Amino acid sequence: MSSQWILKEEIDEILDCYDQANLKIATIGSHSALQISKGARDENFKSLAICSEAVSWFYEQFDFIDEVISVRNYKDILKKRFQEELIQDNCILIPHGSFVEYVGAEAILTKLKVPCFGNRITLEWESDREKEMSWFEEARIKVPKVFKKPEEIDRLAIVKFFGAKGGKGYFLVRNKDEFYEMKKFIKKANSYLIQEYVIGTRFYPHYFYSKILDRLELLGMDIRYESNVDALGRIPPRISRSLELRESYSITGNIPVVARESLLPKILEIGYNLLNASRKLFSFGIIGPFCIEMICTEHLELVCFEISSRIVAGTNFYMDGSPYSSLYFDEPMSCGRRICREINLALSSGRLKEVIF
Ligand code: ADP
Repeated sequence: MSSQWILKEEIDEILDCYDQANLKIATIGSHSALQISKGARDENFKSLAICSEAVSWFYEQFDFIDEVISVRNYKDILKKRFQEELIQDNCILIPHGSFVEYVGAEAILTKLKVPCFGNRITLEWESDREKEMSWFEEARIKVPKVFKKPEEIDRLAIVKFFGAKGGKGYFLVRNKDEFYEMKKFIKKANSYLIQEYVIGTRFYPHYFYSKILDRLELLGMDIRYESNVDALGRIPPRISRSLELRESYSITGNIPVVARESLLPKILEIGYNLLNASRKLFSFGIIGPFCIEMICTEHLELVCFEISSRIVAGTNFYMDGSPYSSLYFDEPMSCGRRICREINLALSSGRLKEVIF
């Protein structure tokens, strides 16, 4: 662990000063904040949404959100005064995709002293493509081939940019000539990854590792709805050819999906393998929600290409639970509520520090 990183012990000391009977669940007003705040209410916690000035009116409409604070810049969360206020208020922060993007994984690891649900070290591993690949390798999970240079491309490949781009501007090529033709769309040198494009159907399962119950749950599953690639099939080739449309994989929404039941043991096994590898690679491993983006080929082989080690926006479809969450719970259980339930379970067994970092 880098010496500049905030130590688990520091967060534990802060938690020691918390009034545990009055915890407040806080997050940034975006991504999955509605589900998290609603889950907080269902689990009898107060909630706080930290919003940009432009959207605070939207979050103020919902009476399950107890408090809305507006900020000019999300990085204001890192200011000493702001953090002190959150700590004073017994806040537990729930990092989600936009939270990590706006505040930054590095800043969360080095500057944010407010206790967060889960293991913040996972954010370092999910936001670095090379680390992510070594994580898959340690877990012995099948991944698409990576081409180190364009000259190596010998099949259909996808060119992806580093950093959380949400699929924007990613494109497909079949060989090095097509790559160099498309290179004008690459804005920064060496800021991309060329990966085998796997043909098959997508499944993005939502896992939840409960440290308190020591079980891995499958809470739901989605696929991303991506513009414009999901729209291209609606335009006949004779017209699309003349329009010279270029594909992009910009995420615009999520679609629910269930996998055939015979795939479920494999999907859960992949989750367990990733979880076990996380424990070997970094202290404590994954705690709470994570998602693995995978493609199922016609031979029913699952090939994985992306990890999100926090709540994903695809869970928003399941604010009232999913077909899978109903296998574990006899009540509506969203991923946001499941996080708050885990905090409750930890509180009642005196193990809060095990799920907070
Ligand atoms: P980001 O993490 O930047 O959002 P992803 O790695 O999730 O990017 O890729 C965005 C989209 O591109 C995926 O949802 C999927 O539709 C497509 N995609 C990415 N990698 C592959 C691949 N190796 N094979 C097939 N499709 C892929």
